[in-house]
Amino acid sequence: MIRVVESLKEVREFVAASLRRNQKIGFVPTMGAFHAGHLSLMRQARKDSAIVIVSIFVNPLQFAAGEDYDRYPRQLAKDVRMAESEGVDLIFAPSVAEMYPKGYATYIDQTDLPNKLCGQFRPDHFRGVMSVVGKLFNVITPDTAYLGQKDYQQFLIIRRMAVDLNLDVDVRMLPTAREEDGLAMSSRNIYLGPKQRKDATCLYRALQRAEELVGGGTNNAARVMSEMKRVIQRVKGARIEYIAVVNSETLEPAKEIKGKTLISLAVRIGKARLIDNILV
Ligand code: AMP
Repeated sequence: MIRVVESLKEVREFVAASLRRNQKIGFVPTMGAFHAGHLSLMRQARKDSAIVIVSIFVNPLQFAAGEDYDRYPRQLAKDVRMAESEGVDLIFAPSVAEMYPKGYATYIDQTDLPNKLCGQFRPDHFRGVMSVVGKLFNVITPDTAYLGQKDYQQFLIIRRMAVDLNLDVDVRMLPTAREEDGLAMSSRNIYLGPKQRKDATCLYRALQRAEELVGGGTNNAARVMSEMKRVIQRVKGARIEYIAVVNSETLEPAKEIKGKTLISLAVRIGKARLIDNILV
């Protein structure tokens, strides 16, 4: 039976009992509104670890004023059923007051990576992500944490944070789960109307075009980016936030595609801000 708890005290007790039994803990941090991407992370955790803990917390710290914090989908009862069918042991679904009680004043920050890509458009976003994930790692003490490639920059930043803060957790990345037409699954896809939902495949199509070019021997980053731009611009109502070809470890712009490279983009369609990426 899955357990759902709201307090840090209950999580600590559950974790302590698991550690006494020498059980390895796999952890999947989320904001809920589960889709097959979230479930794939839980499934891998279930394979690897005796104990699987999932957190569901729409973290106000990682939303800027005017972003979608208020309308972000919340569906705890449904999420619990979905997690239960993946064999999750514990869901931690705290309130904002539980995570950030009155007087809360401590944050985690990082140089370099958070200022790149999405960070240029969402300045305090990754500080909010690190602060909450750091707190969760501290309490849950996972052996392994599972994150999705869809948020590749977030994965890099959290892995860096874990190393730098000597947190003994293996931060693993799993592939992006996609809809049949290639759209990366996201809790935010519900913001898309039917026409916008069709338009939203342009991110994947642009990435496929990039992959095709690179596969065909093109290694000029500017060429790849301009071809991607053309794919997006054919869609009226799609507004490019950025298209980037960067070193996959430093996120520094690459002029030439050689070695491991991240091709990444953010596009606004209607009320939704969509991101996607591939590694080549
Ligand atoms: P979120 O609930 O959107 O904050 O995401 C929680 C975790 O699920 C993060 O590690 C995300 O990268 C991951 N995730 C989100 N969408 C996908 C997807 N389509 N495929 C795989 N993982 C995903």
